Amino acid sequence: MSAILPNTTFLVPLDDGLFVEAVYYGSGTLCVSSQAGCAVGCPFCASGSRGLLRNLSVAELWAQVEGARALGIEPKRLTLSGVGEPLHNFSAVREFLEGCRSLNLPLSFTTTGSPTALFREMIRLPHNGLMLSLHAGRAATHRRLIPQGAELGDLLSVLEETLTGLSRRRRRKLGINYLLLAGINDSPTELAELLPLFHRFPELTLHLLTCNPVPESAFVSPDPARVDELHSWLLAQGVNARRANTWRVQADGGCGTLFVRKLREQAVGVDSKLVLG
Ligand code: SF4
Repeated sequence: MSAILPNTTFLVPLDDGLFVEAVYYGSGTLCVSSQAGCAVGCPFCASGSRGLLRNLSVAELWAQVEGARALGIEPKRLTLSGVGEPLHNFSAVREFLEGCRSLNLPLSFTTTGSPTALFREMIRLPHNGLMLSLHAGRAATHRRLIPQGAELGDLLSVLEETLTGLSRRRRRKLGINYLLLAGINDSPTELAELLPLFHRFPELTLHLLTCNPVPESAFVSPDPARVDELHSWLLAQGVNARRANTWRVQADGGCGTLFVRKLREQAVGVDSKLVLG
């Protein structure tokens, strides 16, 4: 079965009246949510703006895959990179991974790495990719952007310890997400703080993310010329840096957008053809 829409954001209603959001990317990846809401409180993120409502059960994680199939989409791979922090729902996430493996369905994660003990464990799971969202090179910037996350220094220590014990092939499965925000973290001085990590582990990728402006957010990404400049600078420093153009705070199509809109409006009529059930 082939995808009917290249990029599709949809809501799956849950039994208690809540709903969960998933996004299908035309490349074959289905991005699913691990929680309804999120407790991490990143100030740039629409998904976490109402806090955590509750964890999702394993059945509710699978309901998002079934939701895609109901739209005529057969995902080739899954990523737990939607609404929520997967480490805050770790037992369900681990069981979901086992189910995916039994179906030969590759699963990757995006996490802020908190709590660090579980982050260490997650790195070693048989996942198909793990992105650590840092968005900062300095502790103060990291604390500002990921207020309920772990300390930046602790995360870097876990990476250092854990990556040392992994094969190069497994290390290539890991990356760092860095959402560029104008005037906050888009300076070479800030990024330079991460250079020792990338020089020590050159297999790691740095994903430079940008977001479209959203009305509720004071955060904006730098203009494309500035992003190009930073990208070139990172490459010149020997960092395996890549540009990506999607993030969950996108004004349309990104993870969390429908979720927040639905919370605000409590109306099934919003994009109703993409609200399942
Ligand atoms: S960016 Fe991720 S971790 Fe941060 S509030 Fe949003 S969903 Fe939670």
